[in-house]
Amino acid sequence: MLERFLFPRRCPICDDFIAGDKKICENCVGIPRLVPAPRCMKCGKNIDDSNEEFCRDCNRDRHFFTRGVALYEYDSVKDSLNNFKNASRPEYAEYYAENIVKYLGETIKEFEADALIPIPLHISKYKKRGYNQSELLANEISKRTGIPVLNDCLKRVKKTKEQKKLNDTERQKNLVGAFHMSEKGVKLEKVILVDDVYTTGATLDEAAKALLSRGITKIYYLTVAIGTDV
Ligand SMILES: [Zn+2]
Ligand SMILES: [Zn+2]
Repeated sequence: MLERFLFPRRCPICDDFIAGDKKICENCVGIPRLVPAPRCMKCGKNIDDSNEEFCRDCNRDRHFFTRGVALYEYDSVKDSLNNFKNASRPEYAEYYAENIVKYLGETIKEFEADALIPIPLHISKYKKRGYNQSELLANEISKRTGIPVLNDCLKRVKKTKEQKKLNDTERQKNLVGAFHMSEKGVKLEKVILVDDVYTTGATLDEAAKALLSRGITKIYYLTVAIGTDV
């Protein structure tokens, strides 16, 4: 109670203070848009044609992960996710994880995963930011689903450039060899990678490669947001 008084809660969408126990302010209730059906059976993105199983992107490129789902359309939560990562708002993990479990809980169960593995940050970035947003999300999802988090087996061993400043080819090159999976994970069969955003899938693919090299066969993912099909 005292904590709430000293550190009032902020609306995760507009970043303004909110009174009481509300999770989101009244003005922002309708802003985050769930990814509407039909969704790509591979990446979870909305597709326009309900006769198609996959989006254009997944029809074109091969992915290393098994499949994944995302909660919101990226445009609708872009600023919020930016604050979550770059404006010291680690507490937004709670709001997002709660909704991931609320809306994607059935799919999470179907994955029958042994563990949640957050996409790691490079140590230099972790030190600068003070937290890894994906790890916070994984912890909150774990609390609500009982699936354990493994956050010390997948490491980011290469300092990569920021993906959003690069084109598709550069993105892939930038990430080659970015992740290393320790032998601790060898007994795992099915895992769920957790990340904040799915853009082209390059990061999740590269992480999936590291897991495949350790014999993990089913690699799913959960992300807060995903872009639209291009
Ligand atoms: Zn708001
Ligand atoms: Zn897709």
